[in-house]
Amino acid sequence: MGMEKLIRKELLSFGGYSAAASPEVLEGKIEVAAKDMIKIDANENPYGCSPRVNKALAQYPQFNIYPDDGQEKLRGLIAGYAGTDIKYIVCGNGSNQLIDLLIRLLVNLGDEVINCTPTFGIYSFSTKLCNGVLVDVPRDEAFNINIAKVKAAITPKTKLIFVTNPNNPTGNLTPEKDIVELLDTGVPVVVDEAYYEFSRQTIMPLFTKYENLIVLRTFSKWAGLAGLRVGYGIFPEAIADFILRIKIPYNVNVAAQVAVAESLKDKDYLLASVQKLVNERQRLSEQLQKISWLTVYPSQSNFIFCRVWNIDAQNLHKKLQVKGILVRYFDQPRIKDCIRFSVGKPEHTDALIKTLREIGG
Ligand SMILES: *Cc1c(COP(=O)(O)O)cnc(C)c1O
Repeated sequence: MGMEKLIRKELLSFGGYSAAASPEVLEGKIEVAAKDMIKIDANENPYGCSPRVNKALAQYPQFNIYPDDGQEKLRGLIAGYAGTDIKYIVCGNGSNQLIDLLIRLLVNLGDEVINCTPTFGIYSFSTKLCNGVLVDVPRDEAFNINIAKVKAAITPKTKLIFVTNPNNPTGNLTPEKDIVELLDTGVPVVVDEAYYEFSRQTIMPLFTKYENLIVLRTFSKWAGLAGLRVGYGIFPEAIADFILRIKIPYNVNVAAQVAVAESLKDKDYLLASVQKLVNERQRLSEQLQKISWLTVYPSQSNFIFCRVWNIDAQNLHKKLQVKGILVRYFDQPRIKDCIRFSVGKPEHTDALIKTLREIGG
């Protein structure tokens, strides 16, 4: 109790981010060994990273030396991939870190951040840590953003609007004309394109036109590097410059830097595994639609969001977990009766569908 009184008062009720349970934590608690679990809860790439990454890391001679703090080589390679100039790029320990840095850079006590719910949890997480005010603007029934409502929520204190595109956990895209309407307000708009390689829709062609546009991407999903933690942002030049100043030194480690270089040399291989997942998304969606007690939402991503009828969704999550199938449940308003399934390999789809049928009768 003594130490607790030292903690910032507003953080005493802070719940933290509820990440997916990892297989090594579950091992021993269920009958399935970690290596046999079907992990379709965190949108990771089941085909893994490029084999070039494993080879280059095994041979890398200088893990004893700090990485380049300015990320020059890495940023240059990413600028080439994203089709922009290095001066706009900053890399992070996952794009999560860039979300956090951006909010820390802009949001002061009482400043407002517009969040289009239900959506990715890190925007609210970091806003709360900075004593910002989260302004939730609920999406409609089909999880589309109501642009008029977002515009109506803007005040002189609004510092950022977050648009996840495609949205996580719902999988749908926001049309470009809607994003343009938000950009025209002049408020900084963050378009989180973590799943760009799966959706192939990007706002990047408008980057030079709008000085309030920020785009976030990651190597976690398409390139299979979630465990190495590397993402990047394309920021207005002044913001990029300040993010480089306020970030912790050496935030992207050497292994991650090597892995990105190798991944970009093996782009065709990686995009072929993305295509396999896009094909499997279609098959998984069709199979899920045959289950009468699920409503399946359309997805442009590497996961499928479903509403669950007749069975409690949290209970379904548990029942699947006992069988070694890990899926994502969200204890959040409006989606307490929903489950998100990451797209896996064909055998993962088959095992999931079979188990859902056994559970649902
Ligand atoms: C997965 C994800 C990210 C990125 O995660 P990192 O692993 O930190 O790069 C960012 N935004 C959304 C919406 C995501 O789903």
